[in-house]
Amino acid sequence: MSVGASVVLRVDDLATLITRLSELGYEVKGPVVRAGAIVSGALSGVGDLPKGVHDEQGPGEYRIAHGDDDHLFDWAVGPSGWKPEFFPPHDELWRARVGDGHVELVEIPDEPRPLAVVGARPCEAAALGVLDRVFIDGAHRDTRYVERRENAFVAVVECSSPAATCFCDSMSSGPNIEVGFDLALTELDDDDGHRFLARVGSVRALAALEGVAFVLASAVDFSARDAVLEGARRRMVRHLDVDGLAGVLARNLEHPRWAEVAERCLSCGNCTLVCPTCFCSDVRDATDLDGDVVRQRTWSSCFSVDHSYLHGGAVRPTTQSRYRQWMTHKLSSWWDQFDTTGCVGCGRCVAWCPVGIDLTEEAAAIVRFDGVTSVTRPSVRSHL
Ligand code: SF4
Ligand code: SF4
Repeated sequence: MSVGASVVLRVDDLATLITRLSELGYEVKGPVVRAGAIVSGALSGVGDLPKGVHDEQGPGEYRIAHGDDDHLFDWAVGPSGWKPEFFPPHDELWRARVGDGHVELVEIPDEPRPLAVVGARPCEAAALGVLDRVFIDGAHRDTRYVERRENAFVAVVECSSPAATCFCDSMSSGPNIEVGFDLALTELDDDDGHRFLARVGSVRALAALEGVAFVLASAVDFSARDAVLEGARRRMVRHLDVDGLAGVLARNLEHPRWAEVAERCLSCGNCTLVCPTCFCSDVRDATDLDGDVVRQRTWSSCFSVDHSYLHGGAVRPTTQSRYRQWMTHKLSSWWDQFDTTGCVGCGRCVAWCPVGIDLTEEAAAIVRFDGVTSVTRPSVRSHL
């Protein structure tokens, strides 16, 4: 077998794969149910996966429901995603201890075992690709991110049940995946039984499949995959028309819609914290209870006033300016910076916004009245 091959795994084979990944030295994580949500957690076997669990999402709404089926991946995305595994919310950069008349730099403990993710969604794999542009291909390579990412094994499961908040089809980041995975799985359940079509995307995946009982995939399995993906596309109710959107947003920085959305926006930053591509951070020094000085990198949000503080004050002092910064960065100036979109259509910012603000609706409102206040195309950066 070689990279590019496709095989069929039964549920028991998936269990063997998880064991095998662990034997290969990976810390295996996947989706688990915790505190009423599907989040990332340790996987010791298929029994930890959300069997028969489904999610219902809408603007400002998320809940899970338990069915009596035995599907493992019949849900869309939970709140946490995989970003925290590669770009942790709190990351200790260095630590110093004051001793007898001297200051000693304390070594930061070794990095944990390499991570194997089993059950990332296509949009989440796409989001890691976006973060790679920022942390690996950008002007400043982030060595910690690089190390975590390069050592990781990513098994993606294609989507069969998008939530009402998903719009990955518009962003070309789902419900299927064609590149950027070690193993791509599609959960199938038809006359041929409950099984996974598994496409091999890397040499690592070949090693992981050693000792796993599988059969080569047939045309029937690929037809079943097509049906799953077609059904997912049909069920996706949210869309974002991205054609020309970056330019429309860039020339509508004074559009009255920004003031309207600011009347509802609480500037809480939830949307940035759940977003799998937001990467802003802050560096802070603190003293812990042992008296050590700890320098930490922590997630930050463009919705906080401090985030835009320059000498003398914040350059984005209003909610209007902060919401505009967030959305125009995601959908417009991200292209200038990283030659890609900053949004993969996962819908988390819609579901986890406490007042249900919907990015797709806000973008569409601006497109509808494009140029209502402005006729020239100003530089986005001159307005940030
Ligand atoms: S902006 Fe919203 S929909 Fe887009 S990737 Fe971020 S959380 Fe997902
Ligand atoms: S858009 Fe929603 S989630 Fe984002 S800052 Fe405003 S209120 Fe919070």
